[in-house]
Amino acid sequence: MFGLKDDWELEVPERYFTLEDYEGGTARWCPGCGDLAVLTAVQRICRDEQLPPEKTVCVSGIGCSSRFPHYMKTYGFHGLHGRALPVACGVKSRRPDLTVWVATGDGDCCSIGAGHWVHAIRYNMDMVVMLFDNAIYGLTKNQTSPTSPQGLHTNTHPRGAWLPPLNPTAATLGFANVSFVAQTVDWNPAHLYATLVRAYEHKGLSFVRILQRCPTYTSQVFAEMQKDPSQLLLLTGGDNPELDAATARTFPNQQAHDSRDLAAARRVAEQHEPLPIGVLYRDPERPRYEDFTTVGLGMSDADKLVGLERELDKFSV
Ligand code: SF4
Repeated sequence: MFGLKDDWELEVPERYFTLEDYEGGTARWCPGCGDLAVLTAVQRICRDEQLPPEKTVCVSGIGCSSRFPHYMKTYGFHGLHGRALPVACGVKSRRPDLTVWVATGDGDCCSIGAGHWVHAIRYNMDMVVMLFDNAIYGLTKNQTSPTSPQGLHTNTHPRGAWLPPLNPTAATLGFANVSFVAQTVDWNPAHLYATLVRAYEHKGLSFVRILQRCPTYTSQVFAEMQKDPSQLLLLTGGDNPELDAATARTFPNQQAHDSRDLAAARRVAEQHEPLPIGVLYRDPERPRYEDFTTVGLGMSDADKLVGLERELDKFSV
């Protein structure tokens, strides 16, 4: 950031990144798609935190939201269906110095990638995982996903989805070594931005469920919530983002929440009416797997050879 070096001299950093430095290709999402709001928020955070693009990586699986890395002018990896998290963990295990953003959808993370979801939470590597939850498979055109509400008419359930939906925040709060869980909505840019900043600042895996509008297939799912802010419950205090007074006033329902209390977080996560938004849980003391995998990363080749020979000598007869 700019600053005053002396009374009169303006200190300009050698490199200053603008929004344009993070803007990749033109987004090909449908008009009104909530993915656009998330992309804008992440680009703003990168600019505000002055993250060098060459030190930033966006990783995704498959789905509409997984086109995310194409629209960021950073390093990126558009992976296989359900495999965003193992790729992101691989990146972090060898390059802990990189900032990693993961874009994954409700189908990608909570269905085919569910096994990786459980273990990535347990590994707790320092990254922001954004679950774009639009309650549908959008890219493959309207199939029921694990978070589709009961009764939703889709191509796979033309008479309405049978099963109750999976609750991604409640599920994540049940996984071992969970360290950060938050929930926000794409249609409130101030809350979305502030929540993602909190997630970025947390050292460990930050899991953020973002309710994401899909005007093409599930416009009805979040429509009432969007029109009526009393259907949301703004969590305040502790680790929760501080909103400006004007934005905070738009939420008639607010509740002080201790995000260091796991039992309280689990109770809040089970609530639907009104739906809680904010930081449900945060524990900065949880172990991070990269702290173990990166031991010795800076060793010289000669030292690595000595270590290798010492290990191999154990097998000599
Ligand atoms: Fe967005 Fe839905 Fe269009 Fe996919 S189908 S790009 S989720 S609006």
